[in-house]
Amino acid sequence: MTQVGEPQDPRSAVRRALLGLKHPKLEKRNFVELGMIPEVRLENRRVIVTLALPVRQTPAREQFEQMVKATASEACPGWPVEVAVRAMTPEERATFSVRAQGRGPGVGDRPAIQNVVAVMSGKGGVGKSSVAGLLACAARRRGLRVGILDADITGPSIPKLFGVHEHPGEGPGGIQPPETRTGIEVMSINLLLPDEDRPVIWRGPLIGRAIQQFWNDIAWGDLDVLIVDLPPGTSDAALTVMQSLPVHGIVLVTSPQDLAAMVVRKAAHMAEQMGVRLYGLVENMSHLLCPHCGRRIDVFGKSGAERIVQQCDVPLLGHIPLDPDLAAKCDHGEIEDYESGSFEAIAEEILEAIGRPHAEREAEVAVPGAAR
Ligand code: ADP
Repeated sequence: MTQVGEPQDPRSAVRRALLGLKHPKLEKRNFVELGMIPEVRLENRRVIVTLALPVRQTPAREQFEQMVKATASEACPGWPVEVAVRAMTPEERATFSVRAQGRGPGVGDRPAIQNVVAVMSGKGGVGKSSVAGLLACAARRRGLRVGILDADITGPSIPKLFGVHEHPGEGPGGIQPPETRTGIEVMSINLLLPDEDRPVIWRGPLIGRAIQQFWNDIAWGDLDVLIVDLPPGTSDAALTVMQSLPVHGIVLVTSPQDLAAMVVRKAAHMAEQMGVRLYGLVENMSHLLCPHCGRRIDVFGKSGAERIVQQCDVPLLGHIPLDPDLAAKCDHGEIEDYESGSFEAIAEEILEAIGRPHAEREAEVAVPGAAR
């Protein structure tokens, strides 16, 4: 979202722009994610961007300084920008080197997974898993190689949406994730339990370890995108999972009842902390289309999404109506047969924001068995 004229507080626009600034030598990583931009502040009506370098006298210093200055200046026209260069602290350097290798502590390298997109919500029951599933289906229909990691350990629902119940097999490369009918790889704690209905009552550290194992020990194939269904909420549980994985960006799902500026701000803050992009907000169950006359009914009153995203400076990806057909398909494990114009447009925007996974097929591929 480019601002025209003088933005009120240009800091978030600058930070967001810097998230798009890739390290020239570590192409998949951006400066923020690497901890190279510890601060953006305002001082005497100037924007001061701190650039922290692992080695202060690096030959690339001038180049990096110019890159940061140019990117920040473009994001806040009318504001003078200064770049303050300093050396990283030992802690910052340690984080830098782990992230430069593309992973968090304890997380193995998986160069065959191109993009990791996390789907988050403000609370449970707003349709987070459904959106994660729909996004996977939309990406698959476009011919991308897709996996879903169900990180909602205490409320796993991904296998049910896809009607997948088989236990993962043992393959040459490790534990083999089951595939859905259209070829989406799926991993969920539900697939490991002797009884799918048995509740999992685990706490943070154990959940973090399970997620790391899902990442490290599952023989995921070459994936263009791995979609992570996070635990509900924008607090600790979701953060723990995100810190366990090299997430590239987040999609926030809310319902009109749950939609509050605070939820959006929290998600934006979390994304910032992690140095990843918040691709935007999806408002689910936003309205109902009358099955008889097609008229739109705002069941929960008029949506405040437009106003709130504007306040919080977060993109609005779109609205999904309440749709009994979606609920029925999810219930029957047939989410892959569901297609709707409103979600296709949202998926298109997200895939665009991911930067069109590098391996995207030239033409749309017909996926066997998928609804067209
Ligand atoms: P969460 O992951 O946020 O807990 P789910 O995706 O499991 O939420 O959805 C909760 C319930 O709402 C499910 O039964 C799902 O089928 C249903 N649901 C989600 N989105 C919609 C929608 N747009 N229209 C109708 N039902 C929906």
